[in-house]
Amino acid sequence: MSSVIRLLPDHVANQIAAGEVVQRPASVVKELLENAVDAGATSIKLVVKDAGKTLIQVTDNGKGMNEVDARMCFERHATSKISLAEDLFQLQTKGFRGEALASIAAIAHVELKTKEHENQLGTHVIIEGSKVVSQEVAVVPDGTSFLVKNLFFNIPARRNFLKSDQVELRHVIDEFERVALAHNDIQFTFIHNGAELFNLPVSNIRQRIVNVFGGKTNEKLVPVQETTEIVEIYGFVAKPEFAKKSRGEQFFFVNDRFIKSGYLHHAVTAAFEGLLKDGTHPSYFLYLNLPPNSIDINIHPTKTEIKFDDEQALYAILRATIKHSLGQFNVAPVLDFQKDSDLDVPYSYEGTKSVEPTVAVDPFFNPFDSMKPGSSLAGQMDSGFNPFENVKPKMSSGGFSGGKPFQDKKQHKPGGWETLYEGISDAKEIILTSANHQFDEEEITGSLFDDETSQTANYQQSYQFQKKYIISPIKSGMIIIDQRRAHQRILYEHYIKSFTVKQNSSQQLLFPLSLYYTVYEMELLRSIEQQLIQMGFLFQEISNEKIVILGIPVSVSESEVSIVLEDLLNDLQDGVPNDVDVVHDRIAKSLAQSLAVKTGTYLTDKEQENIVNSLFGCEDPQTSPFGKTTFITMKVEDIDKKFM
Ligand code: ADP
Ligand code: MG
Repeated sequence: MSSVIRLLPDHVANQIAAGEVVQRPASVVKELLENAVDAGATSIKLVVKDAGKTLIQVTDNGKGMNEVDARMCFERHATSKISLAEDLFQLQTKGFRGEALASIAAIAHVELKTKEHENQLGTHVIIEGSKVVSQEVAVVPDGTSFLVKNLFFNIPARRNFLKSDQVELRHVIDEFERVALAHNDIQFTFIHNGAELFNLPVSNIRQRIVNVFGGKTNEKLVPVQETTEIVEIYGFVAKPEFAKKSRGEQFFFVNDRFIKSGYLHHAVTAAFEGLLKDGTHPSYFLYLNLPPNSIDINIHPTKTEIKFDDEQALYAILRATIKHSLGQFNVAPVLDFQKDSDLDVPYSYEGTKSVEPTVAVDPFFNPFDSMKPGSSLAGQMDSGFNPFENVKPKMSSGGFSGGKPFQDKKQHKPGGWETLYEGISDAKEIILTSANHQFDEEEITGSLFDDETSQTANYQQSYQFQKKYIISPIKSGMIIIDQRRAHQRILYEHYIKSFTVKQNSSQQLLFPLSLYYTVYEMELLRSIEQQLIQMGFLFQEISNEKIVILGIPVSVSESEVSIVLEDLLNDLQDGVPNDVDVVHDRIAKSLAQSLAVKTGTYLTDKEQENIVNSLFGCEDPQTSPFGKTTFITMKVEDIDKKFM
């Protein structure tokens, strides 16, 4: 038998290697940007079309290449950055493996224009699937420009594997941000489909962070600085109150290279211990400088994971440094997460003059009233001064009323749970009579205090239990409703329905509300703009860094807007789905989740009644939009049995 082993042709070997280096358009962006940085550029321009699937171009004003190098750079293991294995431990450059361009050229159409500053003429190379199509002398500007088109043109399986443009763009933005944050001494621009997403002038690190993440970032940053023998730490952490629900803005740079490290991340979170609300993540931008010989970068093809010589010491120093910064900037002591978020002043109130409250004392106020059935704390407040009136989101506007349109439907439902509430209007009587029985005893106690209130107890149809459940008598016994899940269901159906209406009513804000987001979040908002408008949002502006809101849906209160949108963006982090119905479902779920009354919230009788009525007006009252049970029933017989 003849020998079967043979060397793979170069273009096949390159294609295989490309699999490691180039997973998606963002990988190409990373490699080209890093090459431009290594070439000493002071200005780098990134142009991308269709999230990089169609075109990626990186133009720099770096040192350029001569005509031999312009051809050589596409060879595998061709690099100008190291020549000996020992050099691996003295790295000052981003690249060193000499495989990026070879890999990219193997799976795309690549055009290179480059010129060294000292030369009159430059070189123009066209290469497709590792084959050089042409190379000629050309008149081109100083520096280098790589144009990469039709990525994965010769590997359809790879191409099909790519995600939606939005997801791919998110990855491209991520890579761009990482390089841009590591090199504040370089000017960057980034244009996507003709629109400028970023324009970052040379600036200090703080300003660079602000330019990347938007104007409001500055006030969130707490500086971090420490110099020890093994490491120099510089950078910023965001104040704990700005911690995000998504793990967005977390950056480690080691010797100007973005890296991922679960271990160091842990050190940072440990420093924040006790300062963060549950489910939130701190933002940080940390720059570590270490002697190149104390780290190993060459353990991963994309070089985002590295090995440290003395990881434990690094952990301890990092943790202590951040703790110190948080303490020094007086962040820790002033925090009080117990505070009621209802008290947060909405943006629009900022800067407006405060009015001194006048206190109206109710001479007939009896603190023991609340002990009696049927009376409510809220009721007491109504009679007196309520300092929170203006800021507190109105619960009833949170969609209890929104559930109304569904109420009629229950009449048409056959069998099942519906029989519980058969003809709810005439059921009222039944409920009332059963309530009469139930309250017989309490009525006597009640009358000890106040005859009038005990009267109202007779009409009470439901009880709130543990600020979590609503217990409501029905013909055959009682139902126990989970208030939060039920409200989620009501809101969910309300919002789903609102998408079928052309334009929902909107409440105009007294003062326009400006909110600030990252470029990617703005991209997300733009792609659901139509849906938001349909729900009742009215925008004056959605630019690259802020939105200005003029009107909001009637079911959302002004102080809830920023939370609702933040939650929504968080839920859509992975991109907006293509299918409109799926988008509607996601938005409705997100809003239902953010706006539904929380467990632990006191509900007035009216609010309880609204939940009960609206829930049973829903298409699918048994479960929350997240598939959880909303209510259970208990038959009289079952209760009777317990007393046997
Ligand atoms: P590496 O960056 O690991 O050396 P690459 O395949 O990315 O490998 O690049 C190969 C070589 O091409 C580099 O070592 C460098 O000499 C040259 N090169 C690549 N991009 C540029 C650029 N933008 N300007 C000047 N030279 C470049
Ligand atoms: Mg490189």
